[in-house]
Amino acid sequence: MYVIKIDREKCQACGDCVDTCPNELIALVEEAGVQFAMYTGNPDDCIGCFSCESACPEGSLTVTEL
Ligand code: SF4
Ligand code: SF4
Repeated sequence: MYVIKIDREKCQACGDCVDTCPNELIALVEEAGVQFAMYTGNPDDCIGCFSCESACPEGSLTVTEL
């Protein structure tokens, strides 16, 4: 199982992680007028491909295997 952590402070809501996920597990959401990426998929659906982590230009997203 993999855990996706996204640092909201560093996320620039570029959408690159959203676009690259083969299983469409990440989405851009908005809270109090601030947009950021969030893992919205089922916890078990992540295949640990690390595409999202590699795609993030801000280093704000990490994939960890539990
Ligand atoms: S590791 Fe791969 S499958 Fe998992 S959320 Fe990132 S891009 Fe999607
Ligand atoms: S790629 Fe990084 S900066 Fe861009 S939306 Fe995803 S987490 Fe945020």
